[in-house]
Amino acid sequence: MSIRENVARILRELPPGVELVAAAKTKSPAEILEAIDAGVRVIGENYVQEAIEAFAAVGKRARWHFIGHLQTNKAKKAVEIFDAIETVDSTDLARELDKRCRTAGKTMSVLIEINSGEEGQKFGVAPDGAEALIREIAPLPGIRVEGLMTMGPFEGAPESARPYFKITKTLFDRIGALGIPGIEMKWLSMGMTNSWRMAVEEGANRVRLGMLIFGPRS
Ligand SMILES: *Cc1c(COP(=O)(O)O)cnc(C)c1O
Repeated sequence: MSIRENVARILRELPPGVELVAAAKTKSPAEILEAIDAGVRVIGENYVQEAIEAFAAVGKRARWHFIGHLQTNKAKKAVEIFDAIETVDSTDLARELDKRCRTAGKTMSVLIEINSGEEGQKFGVAPDGAEALIREIAPLPGIRVEGLMTMGPFEGAPESARPYFKITKTLFDRIGALGIPGIEMKWLSMGMTNSWRMAVEEGANRVRLGMLIFGPRS
């Protein structure tokens, strides 16, 4: 199946209101452009350097979301390219992004990455640390917290991700109900190629799909 056919099928199957992020790591600008031509509106990138090259070729034909682990020393470059950072998991990173965004005169949409599995995953804030992090960074004017993102486990049957999606959805609802000024629980980004249906069942309204769109990564 071509990228075009894959995107068309996915867009038909996604329920209304669920946003598709095309996870494009290792993919060429030509492949990214094919996905955009087929209806993809958001490109997800894991590495700043790779994104710089893709962005140079593709530009503003899509919105760009950072979905990898962002080192603070890459924040300046990231702010130049990305429309959203889905993986904020520390005050330091949030402050650095805030500083760079204020200099650039933009407000960055950010999601808080939740380490819902707590073990085995390197990145993300533990579920019970999310509220404190959000309260701390909510006043920063250069960023705007707009939701949560989680990965789920890397191994095991797809069904093994369900508890992690449930934990993250519960947290999303709980934090949303707190009425913290300056933030919004609008986006719940979870689900990948092998787990997106389950993630949507559990409340995701943004899914990040790589292989299902582009085929296997070499
Ligand atoms: C690669 C990646 C995805 C997509 O994974 P697939 O299994 O290819 O769909 C989603 N989210 C993140 C953070 C990724 O790195």
